[in-house]
Amino acid sequence: MSDAVPTGMGSRPVRVDTVEALRATVHGAPREATWGLVPTMGALHDGHLSLVDRAVAECDHVVVSIFVNPLQFGPAEDFETYPRDLARDLELLAARGVDVCFTPAAAGFTPAGLRTTVRVAGLTEVLEGARRPGHFDGVATIVTKLLASSRPDRAYFGEKDYQQLLVVRRLVADLDLGVQIVACPLIREPDGLALSSRNVGLSEHDRRRALALSAALHAVAKAWDGDAGTARARLHGALAEAPGVDLDYAEVADPETLEPLSGTVRGPARALVAARVGGVRLIDNVALSAVGVDAGAGH
Ligand code: AMP
Repeated sequence: MSDAVPTGMGSRPVRVDTVEALRATVHGAPREATWGLVPTMGALHDGHLSLVDRAVAECDHVVVSIFVNPLQFGPAEDFETYPRDLARDLELLAARGVDVCFTPAAAGFTPAGLRTTVRVAGLTEVLEGARRPGHFDGVATIVTKLLASSRPDRAYFGEKDYQQLLVVRRLVADLDLGVQIVACPLIREPDGLALSSRNVGLSEHDRRRALALSAALHAVAKAWDGDAGTARARLHGALAEAPGVDLDYAEVADPETLEPLSGTVRGPARALVAARVGGVRLIDNVALSAVGVDAGAGH
């Protein structure tokens, strides 16, 4: 149980750290008020804040959760060293007009006795799911708990984690959770690097090397003419040769099912990559629109 249940929205954001306190806060607001939820793992950057700003603009009240979810990290992954800076995160959220910051303790939110797993079949077995066994089960289970705890009208997710966005959309549809999932565009540094909490682990040298990911995606998107095989080979070739980039995958996939595409593609597609640079695992992706196909076909 929490020591105190916040009763008002006077000093924002109200920080709550138990599901009971979160429920009391959200349900204490007028019934017609709309709530937005922005789930994060903290170490906030402008990518996260773009989701927060959109939620604040579109909803009467906003909850931002900060929880480094142990269930989504494999045993050999970076749970222990994942960046954390709660004091700075709270300051950033206070400046954005967020109402509630939910910071559950792992012991209460993911207790050792947890026996329920939410698993989205199919979508979670390719790309990230194939390389990180159990990752999306951990994501889906915690996102379901966050949605059940806060019962928002809308929840905001970034296209940076494109596969995660599809997984969340699917679980919300399958379980009739009745929340609108809002997809927000991927935010990049001016030089193209996708913003990520993990970028702080890159040395200046590795950061420059990491630009190969966004550069390769950009080049493929620019040259996109609907030929999926050529686009995949080009992406693969560029990243396999990039110095200091240990390529995990480079794929051109259906934007809804994530199945690999081949031959000539008439509709939209998505190019997705993952690689390790200086020991930091990075992911990035870009939309390949159907417009190029139409334009090309018209000439
Ligand atoms: P994380 O803290 O990495 O779990 O991310 C929390 C949310 O922020 C997820 O919905 C991410 O997709 C989103 N996000 C992270 N980085 C970016 C970015 N560069 N642009 C847009 N959204 C992002």
